[in-house]
Amino acid sequence: SDIGAQKNRVVTEEEWLQKWETHNIGFHKEQGHPLLQKYLDVLLSGRSGLRIFFPLCGKAVDMKWLADMGHHVVGVEVSEQALKEFFVERSLPYSEEPVPGIPGAKKLQSTSGNISLYCCSIYDLSSSIVGKFDGFWDRGALVAVNPCDRQRYASLLITLMEENSSYLLVTASYDPNKHKGPPFYVPESEIKSLFG
Ligand code: SAH
Repeated sequence: SDIGAQKNRVVTEEEWLQKWETHNIGFHKEQGHPLLQKYLDVLLSGRSGLRIFFPLCGKAVDMKWLADMGHHVVGVEVSEQALKEFFVERSLPYSEEPVPGIPGAKKLQSTSGNISLYCCSIYDLSSSIVGKFDGFWDRGALVAVNPCDRQRYASLLITLMEENSSYLLVTASYDPNKHKGPPFYVPESEIKSLFG
């Protein structure tokens, strides 16, 4: 695919943690995402009480929005600061526990039990740990993944898909030679080859 100079670019976990520490988080939006609202019916397709996964979740406010509708939300994020800010800023009490099978990882769960956020790398997860999902909201996630890790990312997400799951994906269309990313440019042809 034609991703130009971005092909070999790597943003390390350390750099992501630093972005959170220095509040360099221009990707975070205080309002719910308009495209999630627009395509909510596609995500739910008439179903209620879904398990919905937010890969690379940050502190996306949409997690509370979907949980308040009666869905169970699971997210994963390397920055513990991001996850704590999510619960504090949404005024949600939560508890923390270690994750059996992932050394050093933590699960932060709302006291009401319907939002579970894993603090670890997404590449540490598997369906035996988090189960499978009926819906996925991928915003600032595939486009934040290093281009060299895209195949691994997509293959993992496919293993987390329940039969008849829906996957909403947000990308940005631009000239990859003019911006180093993230967000990275992920052409539609590549999305087709990654997810089929
Ligand atoms: N989806 C969120 C955050 C987008 S920014 C939103 O739309 O607001 C990408 C996020 O992924 C950052 O918060 C970063 O800390 C996190 N991240 C980067 N690499 C990760 C990895 N390997 N596993 C889990 N989280 C990761």
